[in-house]
Amino acid sequence: MKLPEINIGLVGHVAHGKTSLVKSLTGKLTLTHSEELKRGITIKLGYADAAIFKCKDCNYYFANNNFCPNCLSKNIENTRTVSFLDAPGHETLMITVLTASALMDGAILVIAANEKVPQPQTKEHLKALELSEIKNIVIAQTKIDLLEKEKILENYNQIKNLISKSFLKEVPIIPISSVYNVNINYLIEAIENYIPTPKRKNGKARFFAVRSFDINKPGTKVKDLKGAVLGGSVISGKFEIGEEVEIKPGIFHEGKYYSLSGKIVSIQKSGKNVEVATPGGLTGLMLDLDPSIAREDFLAGRVVGKLNELPEEVKSLELEVNLLERFVGTEEEKIVEPIKQNEVLLLHAGVQRTIGIVKNVKSEIVEVELKMPIILENYRILISRQLFGSWRLIGYGKSLQEKY
Ligand code: ZN
Repeated sequence: MKLPEINIGLVGHVAHGKTSLVKSLTGKLTLTHSEELKRGITIKLGYADAAIFKCKDCNYYFANNNFCPNCLSKNIENTRTVSFLDAPGHETLMITVLTASALMDGAILVIAANEKVPQPQTKEHLKALELSEIKNIVIAQTKIDLLEKEKILENYNQIKNLISKSFLKEVPIIPISSVYNVNINYLIEAIENYIPTPKRKNGKARFFAVRSFDINKPGTKVKDLKGAVLGGSVISGKFEIGEEVEIKPGIFHEGKYYSLSGKIVSIQKSGKNVEVATPGGLTGLMLDLDPSIAREDFLAGRVVGKLNELPEEVKSLELEVNLLERFVGTEEEKIVEPIKQNEVLLLHAGVQRTIGIVKNVKSEIVEVELKMPIILENYRILISRQLFGSWRLIGYGKSLQEKY
């Protein structure tokens, strides 16, 4: 089996069947770190890998099986391996989706056939994909086993109508049933045709950390301690065992951020030890750093690069902003008012996330002071604002400080 070469996110309304779809696609439930279930950590990003096969005798597509389930032939080809990313259960909050989108090369938008289209959350996730510039998308119309054919068609046309007004014009909509395994082969075929593995830039090595762990059991002797582990994905370039890397933004100590650096001790991808980490798939990097600094996702939202290759952190931003007309994630769809001075915003820059306080507004140009510094590398900055106690996407900004 090939190692994963692409990350495909599952997005959509919380109860529309994302987790059952992943199970049906891969034969597994999305994996999450066991301890996180007890602790309630903010970003519970799950993943499951699927080795995708095409039958050379009957052209049937399937995953994670060593013969064709359609004609039983063993004359099959592992076209590639995909990592599916899923934010399980109630964690389908915008904050998780926006962070996860930094790792997604493409997405499956999941819409249940037995619900009115669109649900506010569906619209908001669609907007998040658009603003994150994720263009390769397939729609799965789930739960078709619950309805008569006419109702499925009616819902299908509502989905078509929704996307005709969005940035997704020609994306396929595949009606499926995860429970009865109906049309999963066509969904896999659509993924193969519409979500190609991106041509990776030969740019500098970058790794986005979405998790971090101390994997040592309590009471481990110092000489047996394993170093800090970062979980995430390589975004560009590659990392090898033995290389010196740095992590930014670093850690806060007495009013200052110190960048962290260390050596890569081991690399894991799909549960296998590898020598080199390349883009696609969830990857774990173990560094020769004190494991306690990686506890409980403390280093989540950091960028890793080779030593002295990351830009300096910035503590303020000058953004040229583009705001949405309305809050799409709520039933009322209130109008998005312009950004005001002293307002508190939530900003996503790639995998980095920080609170920003607006210091100055001059038409579309907004100056923001950041609670936690970030590095700028051609990221679109996604902007969220609090509405009725939760963060809602309101638009994006482009930093004017950046050099291109
Ligand atoms: Zn076959």
